[in-house]
Amino acid sequence: MEEPDWSFFRESLLKWYRADRRPMPWKAIDNPYHIWLSEIILQQTRVAQGLPYFERFVAAFPTVNELAAAEDDVVMKLWEGLGYYSRARNLLKAARMVAFEFGGEFPDTYAGLLKLPGVGPYTAAAIASFAFDRQVAVLDGNVFRILSRYTNDSTPIDTGKGKKHYQMLVDDALGDTSAKRFNQAIMDFGALVCTPKKALCESCPMAARCAAYRVATVYERPLKEKKLKRRNRHFHYLVISDDKERTIIEQRLDKDIWQNLYQFPLLETNSSDVETSSLATHQDWPEFLPAGELTFVKRSRPFKQQLTHQTIMATFHQFQWKAMPKKVSAAQVVKNKLLVNFAFPRLINKFFADKSLLLDLF
Ligand code: SF4
Repeated sequence: MEEPDWSFFRESLLKWYRADRRPMPWKAIDNPYHIWLSEIILQQTRVAQGLPYFERFVAAFPTVNELAAAEDDVVMKLWEGLGYYSRARNLLKAARMVAFEFGGEFPDTYAGLLKLPGVGPYTAAAIASFAFDRQVAVLDGNVFRILSRYTNDSTPIDTGKGKKHYQMLVDDALGDTSAKRFNQAIMDFGALVCTPKKALCESCPMAARCAAYRVATVYERPLKEKKLKRRNRHFHYLVISDDKERTIIEQRLDKDIWQNLYQFPLLETNSSDVETSSLATHQDWPEFLPAGELTFVKRSRPFKQQLTHQTIMATFHQFQWKAMPKKVSAAQVVKNKLLVNFAFPRLINKFFADKSLLLDLF
């Protein structure tokens, strides 16, 4: 393999960045709180989707101390719709660590930032360079893709060895140039030019020295060793309401997807093709629900949500419980019009949005 020309890479990248950079509200600032918040929000979210959330969080909690003092449910509600809820839980843990253990000051080194919950090597490098001008190169999906293409490197990116290898490449690519500018430039370049499916090679300033472009392997880079294995899960939600417009919900407390969000009582089966009448004999049927007192009303169509490692298929089974008590153990009886105050997974919000299925829940 030919030695990559890193000075050409750097110069082309920074020249392109001067002309084409994307304006972002946090780019012109060096406030570590804003930079950290934006990086956590954008970890698995597109910029267009994440931006309004960033603005809402900054408006609701102008400082890390105010975020640290917030109630968990308020933060989860503000996060609703962004997915990957472990990020929101870690956001709070990290804010509390900064506020209560570090006197409201973010650590200013890569190693110090890595100690914050939810901050991995990529995020620590981004904050260290953007907020504190530290000389560390970021390595994220964009960077793996650009480097593996520019050098036509077939080293898989999803192994420990692969990560070390690409860290060396990005350090070479960075050289002595300012990491703050280089990191922003390379991420924008990955988002706008060297994109996963429609790379703009024809107009790319690096095309002349790009090895994958030369040998037409652009879309075969980067390589991954492990193929993603997805698990199918089948959820059956019991939507139990009474004629006083109240419904039963519960909080997901187990270590599983959507931890701390709310839902209707849930039964999980091996298939979606299950009769509603057979659910009462399911081993997890809630003890507080007397099956004989429930009147079946409606069964929804299946709803689907694709997560990174799981495909969730959900069916909503609606029942009336005339003599529903004011309180039930391990769950909450909530006025329908107050359901909007609870944070639900996107799948349940889709059910709420499909008015044709609802039994006047709102
Ligand atoms: S030529 Fe194409 S593959 Fe190579 S760096 Fe440019 S956009 Fe990426």
